[in-house]
This record gives sequence, C-alpha cells and structure tokens, in this order.
Amino acid sequence: MKLDSKVPKGPIAEKWTTYKDKIDLVNPANKRNIDIIVVGTGLAGGSAAATLAELGYNVKAFCYQDSPRRAHSIAAQGGINAAKNYMGDGDSNYRLFYDTVKGGDYRSREANVHRLAEVSGNIIDQCVAQGVPFARDYGGLLDNRSFGGVLVSRTFYAKGQTGQQLLLGAYSAMNRQIARGKIEMFNRHEMLDVVKVDGKARGIIARDLISGEIERHSAHAVVIATGGYGNVYFLSTNAMGSNATAAWKIHKKGAYFANPCYTQIHPTCIPRSGDYQSKLTLMSESLRNDGRIWVPKHLEDAKAIQEGKLKPTQIPEENRDYYLERRYPAFGNLVPRDVASRAAKERCDAGYGVNATGEAVYLDFAAAFVRYGTEQAKIKGIHNPSKEEIIKLGQAIIEEKYGNLFQMYEKIIAENPYETPMMIYPATHYTMGGVWVDYNLMTTVPGLYCIGEANFSDHGANRLGASALMQGLADGYFVLPYTIGDYLSDDIRTGAIPTDSHEFDEVEKEVKDRLDFFINNEGTHSVDYFHKKLGKVMWDKVGMARNEKHLKEAITEIKKIRENFWKNVKVPGGLNEFNQELEKAGRVADFLELGELFAKDALDRNESCGGHFREESVEKSGPQKGEAKRNDKDYAYVAAWEYKGEPADAILHKEELEFKDIELKTRSYK
Ligand SMILES: Cc1cc2nc3c(=O)[nH]c(=O)nc-3n(C[C@H](O)[C@H](O)[C@H](O)COP(=O)(O)OP(=O)(O)OC[C@H]3O[C@@H](n4cnc5c(N)ncnc54)[C@H](O)[C@@H]3O)c2cc1C
Repeated sequence: MKLDSKVPKGPIAEKWTTYKDKIDLVNPANKRNIDIIVVGTGLAGGSAAATLAELGYNVKAFCYQDSPRRAHSIAAQGGINAAKNYMGDGDSNYRLFYDTVKGGDYRSREANVHRLAEVSGNIIDQCVAQGVPFARDYGGLLDNRSFGGVLVSRTFYAKGQTGQQLLLGAYSAMNRQIARGKIEMFNRHEMLDVVKVDGKARGIIARDLISGEIERHSAHAVVIATGGYGNVYFLSTNAMGSNATAAWKIHKKGAYFANPCYTQIHPTCIPRSGDYQSKLTLMSESLRNDGRIWVPKHLEDAKAIQEGKLKPTQIPEENRDYYLERRYPAFGNLVPRDVASRAAKERCDAGYGVNATGEAVYLDFAAAFVRYGTEQAKIKGIHNPSKEEIIKLGQAIIEEKYGNLFQMYEKIIAENPYETPMMIYPATHYTMGGVWVDYNLMTTVPGLYCIGEANFSDHGANRLGASALMQGLADGYFVLPYTIGDYLSDDIRTGAIPTDSHEFDEVEKEVKDRLDFFINNEGTHSVDYFHKKLGKVMWDKVGMARNEKHLKEAITEIKKIRENFWKNVKVPGGLNEFNQELEKAGRVADFLELGELFAKDALDRNESCGGHFREESVEKSGPQKGEAKRNDKDYAYVAAWEYKGEPADAILHKEELEFKDIELKTRSYK
C-alpha cells in the first residue's frame, strides 16, 4: 500500500482553513446515530471525548485507571506552548512552526506542524474558559516562560502542575457529557484488541480489570489516545502503567508504526539510585530558565565529589564548567533536550559526573537567587541589603515559581536544593515515534484514528518542551473533531454495529487464548524480571548513543528475552479477578516485540537526527565538529513499518518529507 499523507494542496498558512471549509459534515440529527469509541482519557483522549460528545456523537470512553483524572497527563509539570505573543517578544504562528520543525531536526510533516501552531492559541482560550488557573503576572495577564530550543517566551503554565490543571479542565468537560449521557465512561477497562469489519475499525475487545470479564464494544470509528511507549526502557519518567498495548495491537491489525526509534531522553531527571528502582522522576525543563548546569572543570574535583570529600558549594566559580553556556552561547542552558542530554552524557563519560555513580551533573540556582533577590530588594526599597537578605528574597521568588518541584526533589534525594545544587541526569521521557497517521489523524486502517503521544506526531525526531500538551489538546479539541466528521459522513445510514459477528468472535477468542496462556503457564520468572532485562538492553544499546554493532546485538538479545518470556513467564492469580500481574504480562509481551522493531528502525536509520544519535554519523570538522550529523539526502522520510509477523519481518514504507516553507539547514544552537 502506498502511504498517502492526504496533506491538502495550497499555501501552508491556508491549508487547514480551506480544508475545513471543504470537508463533509455530519448534520446534528445524524450525529445522534453515530457511535465513537475513544480509548484513553488523558489530555488527548479526554479532550476528544468531551468535544465529540459536545458535537452530538455518542461516545464510549475507556481508561485503565479508576478515573480519567489519573491519566499520565496529570504528571506534566512545566507548561504548554502557544503562539500568543503575550510577551511582545516577536512570537508568531510562523515562529512556533519554524521552531518545532527545526527542533524536530527536520523530520516532521510541515503541514501538520503549521496547523498545530495555528490552533495553539485556541487551546489557551478554551482552557481559560474551562477555568484552568494558568499563572498570571502582576497585572493579571497570563504569564509565559521559556522552554528549550526557542528564543521567545511562549509557555503557559500553572506552577509545576500544568498537566494536572489542564486535565481537570478536560475532565470537567467530559463530566458534563457523562452527566448528559453522551459519554459512557468505562473506567478500569483495558482495550486488548481492535475489531475490523470489512476492513474498517468497528470496535474493540476490552477487559473489565475488576471482574476480569471480557467485553465487546462496537462503534463506527475507534480513536486510540493511549499515550507513549517510553516504558519499553523499564525505567522512565512515565507513569508506571503507561504502555503500548493498544498501539501495538492496532499495529498488528494493519496500522503502520512510524519512527519507533525516535525517543526523547530528557536531560533534567533525578539520577538513578540503584538496581531496585521502579521509576524515574522528572525535574521540569522550566527549571532551566533559572538553573545553570555545570560540572567541575578539573577531574580531581569531580573525583573528590564522587568520593564525598568535596561539596559543590566549595568549588569556586572559576573551577566550574558551565558546559552548555560554553558550547552553545546563543541558547545556553535552554538548548533542546536531545542536545542537553548528549552534552551531559559526554561530560559524565569523560569522568566529570558528580555523584557516586558518576552519572549526574549540577543544576544550580545560586545565581538566580542573587538576581531575583537584588531586584526584590530594590522593589521593596531595602537599601544596602546583606548577601543573606538578598538570597532569602531570591529564594522566595524561586519558591513561588517552582516550589513544588524543589519540595519533590528534597523528598526524593533528602538534600535541600535551596542550599546545594540539584543533581540531574538524562532519563527516558517521551516517544516521538508512534502509530502513523495521515493529515486527518487516521491510521492506515479506515475508521481507526490515533491522537496524542500515541501517534507519530508533529515533533519529528525531537520534541520541544511544552509541545506535547499542545499537540494532545490540539488533536483532541481542534483537529480530530473536524476530520473524523468527514469520514463519518459516509456512515449516517449504517446503523448500530452488531457485536455478534464472526469478526468479534475471532478477536475475542485471540484475546481469551492469550490471557489463558499467561494464567496457565507454569513459568519460573515474574513479568518484571523480563521487563528489566529488556530495559537494560534498550538503555545500554538503544539509548542515548547508538551504533551498528550494539543495535545488531540488541535485536538478537531482545528476541532471546522474548522467547524466554513465552517459555518461562509466571503470572500468579486468576483470570476472573483484579490481577495486575496479568495486566502487566500482556503489556510486557507487547514491549518485547516493539523493542525489537525499535532497534531495527534505529539500525536502519544510519544518520543522527534529534533524539536518535548514531555514533557513526557525527560532524568531523567545522563549527559543528562533534555534533550530530543529519543526512537529508538519504533519510528525509518518515519510516512507517508494516507488521508481517515477527518484528524482523516488518516491511518499511517511506513517507518522503517535503520542505517547501522551511529551508533544510544544519541544526545549530551555537
Ligand atoms: C513527568 C512528565 C512531565 C511532563 N511535562 C510536560 C510538560 O510540562 N509539557 C508538555 O507539553 N508535556 C509534558 N510531558 C509529556 C506529556 O505529559 C505527555 O506526552 C501527554 O500528557 C500524553 O498525553 P496523552 O493523552 O497522549 O496520553 P496519556 O496521558 O498517557 O493518557 C493515556 C490514556 O490511555 C489510557 N490507556 C492506555 N492504554 C489503554 C488501554 N489498552 N485500554 C484502555 N485505556 C488505555 C490510560 O488509561 C490513559 O487514560 C511530561 C511527561 C512526563 C512523563
């Protein structure tokens, strides 16, 4: 099948508007006869479910938590981007479009990214109308801060809890529709497969996670909004439950999976503490607005710190290496995530890391305390303030901005970050790859849509900070509700989709057989045993730096772990009860296939771009010496994989990327 991105013709700034004007609509009376399943009620699925129901469709929404309020989206800390130019610093739709395409290392689809920038402002208006308490400045206007990879301030935020506040907004909008009966909410339900009838997505098989009952649900279209697959690494900043099962199951039923190797390793996370850890914690990128990143300039100082003989506060200014400011003077500490992560790894690999494992760098707020404190002293009319007074005043401002993040850090590390610099290290955080979708957000299966982090999205090979929430809410509030109508306009006479068909019988049987296998397999090892093994291979060989030898080894090793899993996995408990080990078994089985495709994709892409760094593809000379080297001649495409059985047999389809409005350039933040 030839991939058709269905990007409308015409000038980029007019495509979306003209397209919306021309697509088919479903009249309000007919919407009442159309059912839509939305799987996932994080920011993407929650906003889509609420909007589709508001439009008049009958929505069935599913999530595996006990409430949509607990979706992983709640963890989002730093903010959400929008090109409102409230700060008057020269922002525009074009600049947001440009920054996102450049930030993604020229591996995203121009038309989608421009649309994203166009609707970004609407998202903020919508959320404010819902009552989302964005931070405001002294005069009461919405405040903005800056995130990596841009030279303007366009990030709207609610302290360090932006995701939570946005999710409460979307959840309120959903609740209104639940109360009206337009959304039927299925909490604690996990979609275990999709059902196709005559080639179209017409339903799902779900498991009631409390009773264990297997259920059939039908609809005229199915929307997958199930989040990213970062937990393929076992340790990540994602919620423990985040998984790829829905995305992987639809891949196995015909939806192509795009760019699986594009993963974001976030530079500012709390370093790993040992082998018995189950997750990692993010320290929001917003902290890089005020925190300066450094390691000791001299190896002997680094060694003394690693051995606990020296404190960071004892190292004088001239003996510190603010390596991001040194290497990237134009963007400094606010370089994009992939660049900052690699730079931290480079320093730590060279021996300059600052904790016992040598895998940490400092994020230091001392300069910000003085800067803000001096300003506050002036504002408050304090003449000749002492150094201590200044620092105290400055700390109060930092507390106002990031207090909950500082508190979280102190609880985990047991050190007061107001007194000593934070320690941070890169960790898996977000997946730019995902289910391939066209301009309508439809997958390669008719009637099957994918939105939010689960799709291969608008971020190319690297996502800029605060752009995931923007994309998820753009998809759910402003894009899908239009595009899905164009498809559903052909379904107004179809009537309800029956679930007593052989198509439902077959898929339900597949699901039940698999669950039976897990319960009855007399294995020797827990699900986590295999997940940890997979995660270690992924981190060591498909992590921040990749090379041909390691990728080939990873493919072989993951296959072996998978074979061992199917022989030796042990799942305690029963089928017809709340059984979290059983839930995990299915998810890890899918990660074990996805992980191999991930490594295969990384091997196939013999260039460095964004988060995908191939050690073989580095600039050897010139001003970019040592930086990642992209290869536009051979790799300016989206890699969309078709399932053919084993991951090794997957077939590559290429969507060639066209750059008509942005010139392909070397991506430099110097
Ligand atoms: C710690 C942290 C901080 C972040 N901070 C920011 C930030 O400041 N700004 C920003 O832009 N981005 C941020 N991100 C990224 C952003 O939070 C996510 O990309 C985004 O929230 C994903 O939203 P989503 O709706 O696509 O998926 P999710 O929020 O992951 O929701 C997935 C939904 O799918 C459901 N689900 C999954 N599988 C199934 C299944 N099989 N059956 C039924 N239901 C299922 C879940 O129950 C859930 O409802 C952050 C990420 C992390 C980890």
